[in-house]
Amino acid sequence: MKIVETVKELKKWIKAARNEGKKIGFVPTMGALHEGHVSLVKKAKRQNPFVVVSVFVNPTQFNDKSDLAKYPRTLEFDTALLAPTGADVLFFPSVSEIYPDGDNVGADIDLGGLDTFMEGKFRPGHFKGMAQVVKRLLDIVTPDRLYMGQKDFQQFSIVAYMIRNLDLPTELVVCPIIREKNGLAMSSRNERLTRETRQKAGLINRVMIAVKKSMDLKSIAELEAYAMKRLSTPPFEPEYFSIVDGYTLQPVTSLRDSTYVVACLAVWADGVRLIDNIVLKQP
Ligand code: AMP
Repeated sequence: MKIVETVKELKKWIKAARNEGKKIGFVPTMGALHEGHVSLVKKAKRQNPFVVVSVFVNPTQFNDKSDLAKYPRTLEFDTALLAPTGADVLFFPSVSEIYPDGDNVGADIDLGGLDTFMEGKFRPGHFKGMAQVVKRLLDIVTPDRLYMGQKDFQQFSIVAYMIRNLDLPTELVVCPIIREKNGLAMSSRNERLTRETRQKAGLINRVMIAVKKSMDLKSIAELEAYAMKRLSTPPFEPEYFSIVDGYTLQPVTSLRDSTYVVACLAVWADGVRLIDNIVLKQP
């Protein structure tokens, strides 16, 4: 696996892969990698002979600057975790490499209003920054396929919209959520939880499963209220639990309103913000 820090060098390897007729798979990450990321890379490698993984903690998507400062950076560990996956290139650029003309450039991509609900409400500007960096990375890597996790439901929905809207020549492949033994969705932020809270955080998945089990017996409002109450067990403090249409991300008032229904949530614990989701109705 080659470790590449500049756009110029990355383009050289991409050109070489293209000259050999290889399809290119791309997995953008912010590093502090775990088995969730690894599952994306392995899938990318099964479907494409040439795989690029980026590790870039994108400052423009952090509305909370202390979250940016605390974001774990573990390049040596990440490299060791990636080596056996068959990834061909680890792209590890600096901020000035990604934003040579300043980080306002390309920050105004149309997101169809999908950035105004849920995460967008609590993290203003987050999705503008996320879309900005994904677009910039897609322009550099020019992948045939882009791999993202269902873990960040709103994120991949927005990227899917951007790809459609800008008619980008990349297929988005969404990969399932990988969980810890107790059901907690793997996340780089889990490292910042105390051992006790991390153990207790299996509650989040249990609540989502309980909601799914009783979704035909209760109204949407009752399901949301039930989840918010159970997720208010200390040390957890829910920010939202929203049952929404999986395409538009608009709240639904009844399961009959839509063919694709997802429950999305954000919960605070130990000063760490955790997100998760479960598909209640699959199209
Ligand atoms: P991040 O490094 O957190 O920006 O995540 C990079 C990619 O990995 C995103 O597409 C995430 O949705 C995905 N991802 C993060 N956690 C998981 C997980 N537990 N299971 C599957 N994919 C994940």
